[in-house]
Amino acid sequence: MTSAPILAPPRRVLVPAHVDPTPPPLGGAVHELAGRTMGTTWRVRLVSGARLAREPVVAAIQGELDAVVAEMSTWEPGSDLCRFNAAPAQSWHALPARFFEVLEAALGVAHASAGAFDPTAGALVDAWGFGPTAGTRQPPDAATLAQALRRRGWERLALDGPARRALQPGGLALDFSAIAKGYGVDRVATRLHALGFASHLVEVGGELRGTGIKPDGQPWWVQLEHPEPALAPADTLLALHGLSVATSGDYRRWYEHDGARLSHTIDPRDGLPIRHGVASVSVIHAQCMLADAWSTALGVLGAGQGLALANRLGLAALFVVRRDGGFEDVASAAFEALLQ
Ligand code: ADP
Ligand code: MG
Repeated sequence: MTSAPILAPPRRVLVPAHVDPTPPPLGGAVHELAGRTMGTTWRVRLVSGARLAREPVVAAIQGELDAVVAEMSTWEPGSDLCRFNAAPAQSWHALPARFFEVLEAALGVAHASAGAFDPTAGALVDAWGFGPTAGTRQPPDAATLAQALRRRGWERLALDGPARRALQPGGLALDFSAIAKGYGVDRVATRLHALGFASHLVEVGGELRGTGIKPDGQPWWVQLEHPEPALAPADTLLALHGLSVATSGDYRRWYEHDGARLSHTIDPRDGLPIRHGVASVSVIHAQCMLADAWSTALGVLGAGQGLALANRLGLAALFVVRRDGGFEDVASAAFEALLQ
């Protein structure tokens, strides 16, 4: 008796248009390192000789991530970000180079997304119970929401580029949570490169960046995250070769209130959690920082406006939309172009 073949799920495969022709290192081995940061985990796979002195590499990686946390965490009261948030109105603040780099990138995405992404949404995030001062997870009352909305506003943040300073206009609460993980990934990848590791895969809390190829000649293959893998129309495999991918979703952090699903992604324009049925957005970009920020920005805009903007800007994005108890994929043109 022969048993019926088990049907494998269909697969989609995405590969970058440009492949680095450098051959894989001879006799290399893949080493795996891991640790904790930003309330989640980090994981690095890198190619080196058969023996690797792990401690100095782990220390270098942890050092990069600790520096991002020390400057940009909303959860560390002593961070540069928390000190800026607590500073008096109309005060100017000299900022560390990394902080300034992230702030400028965040303002760029805020501008390009017409405020769908807003690095000054901190008071709103707190009001909905997703910030560090959150007690119970409860929607805010009307007065609290109105006050949090007044405190938001990336347009009110004046920068002095040459002196690397920013103006606290009063009550503005920065929140880099939608961009800092991606930035941490970029910092680690850059550091690994400087340490002589030409081939590596870096992950912080699900955001990934891959460089080079493995000793077997293959790129770093990763599977795109899906809100409910069993209901995905296909497994999507991505060759992370000089690319990053970030996914934001309403399934990551949320709570239910009166039958509504309240996500930690907030639309800063009306101050309410997103509610247009986008379960997740994945963005593929050379820089993980921008993949991270754009996945949040496009999640706020939704599969209609978000897809139009992604196509206008040439962003590779996949929206997974909740529909009739299942999920539907909506892909941008640049995403389709990566498909084999
Ligand atoms: P994840 O942590 O699942 O990767 P994101 O990258 O989307 O998710 O980051 C979500 C966090 O970003 C929220 O917890 C909040 O702190 C902050 N945030 C929420 N909405 C916005 C927004 N519209 N623009 C910028 N930051 C936001
Ligand atoms: Mg993000």
